[in-house]
Amino acid sequence: MAGNLFIVAAPSGGGKTTLVRMLLEQESSVHLSISFTTRGPRPGEQNGREYHFVDTVEFQAMIARQEFLEWAEVHGNFYGTSKKWIADQLADGHDVLLEIDWQGAQQVRKLFPQAIGIFILPPSMEELTRRLTGRGTDSADVIARRLAAAHAEMRHVGEFDYVIINDQLAQALDDLRAVVRASRLSFGVQRVRHAALFERLI
Ligand code: 5GP
Repeated sequence: MAGNLFIVAAPSGGGKTTLVRMLLEQESSVHLSISFTTRGPRPGEQNGREYHFVDTVEFQAMIARQEFLEWAEVHGNFYGTSKKWIADQLADGHDVLLEIDWQGAQQVRKLFPQAIGIFILPPSMEELTRRLTGRGTDSADVIARRLAAAHAEMRHVGEFDYVIINDQLAQALDDLRAVVRASRLSFGVQRVRHAALFERLI
């Protein structure tokens, strides 16, 4: 398998979406997996771009047909990663990036032990609270719930290979690119990618 499988997780408020978007702009060979979800689209989201939006009946049918590499319930909605799409991408030698939660990460690791886990942390408790407070229009209750969910996610940071502290966006992006680029230079990947060269030299 010449392609790498990256799993990126973070608590909401970690800045994951922005970082991943910027990474994809700079590293065009990394392909983002578009998950299936039963949650409704948020303003500005497009079917097939951020997610494939499906109803619960369709999602359950996909589970029954074993079409998911992993799936999980997150904050009351279902989310899942397409098995076939990932397999095709990796077989074609592309790097694939999954933006999934810790439950999905655990399932993927069992199937692909060589998957590279990256966890993005906010720089401080204060900053996390500030990012989750949004524009100040949400109730204290809603914010407390988001903070609790963020804590629950962050407790799994130790299950990941790399940790990126998202303080300055430019630095965090640099760090993320460093992980992606270094992974491409591992022996296992290079041996497949440059098979003919290895054959001649060694
Ligand atoms: P949101 O609804 O805010 O886009 O995402 C909520 C959470 O679901 C995030 O932690 C996100 O990483 C996670 N998520 C998105 N897609 C998937 C998926 O396919 N599988 C799993 N397990 N989690 C996902």
